[in-house]
Amino acid sequence: MRKKTGKPPLASKVELVLLDVDGVLTRGDIVYAEPDAGAAEGLELKMFNVRDGSAIRWALREGLQVAFMTGRRSRVVERRAADLGVTLVRQGVKEKGAAFAALLKETGFRAEQTAAMGDDLMDLPILARAGFPGCPADAHEEVRKRCRFVSRFPGGGGAVREFLEEIFRAGGIWDKILTRYMEAAK
Ligand SMILES: [Mg+2]
Repeated sequence: MRKKTGKPPLASKVELVLLDVDGVLTRGDIVYAEPDAGAAEGLELKMFNVRDGSAIRWALREGLQVAFMTGRRSRVVERRAADLGVTLVRQGVKEKGAAFAALLKETGFRAEQTAAMGDDLMDLPILARAGFPGCPADAHEEVRKRCRFVSRFPGGGGAVREFLEEIFRAGGIWDKILTRYMEAAK
């Protein structure tokens, strides 16, 4: 577990980062591709951001927990999570507030120890309870006005990266992450 820094609440207390998928980890586009007749199923394409991915890896390495939660279900989300080492993945979530409560129970964290990023109305039950709620620049207005952190960047375009860097700085681990690369560059 990450070392406590004794800093003020909100971003500095974050132990669990909960991320919506469509519109947060992606631009929100869902590209369907229908195979020719006879193939077993269609394809669903999503585009993720490589710099978001790097920050998710750093978060995990520094002992933060990261979870993906989405109302939809697709194999590409499983694959992205597996690539990054994210094991807390909740797909096909009908009611995000209830799923958030279940995740807290399972992980043992309190709501105030979580940061959450969402972009649309269905994320509000989580954003209303999370200790550090954030959203991409292009989130719905009702979401933006309820978030403590509004990224300068859109979903799939660096919003998650900026959110995580804010959490790293508040938690006193940004310098450690940066130093690792600065030292390696010498
Ligand atoms: Mg969304």
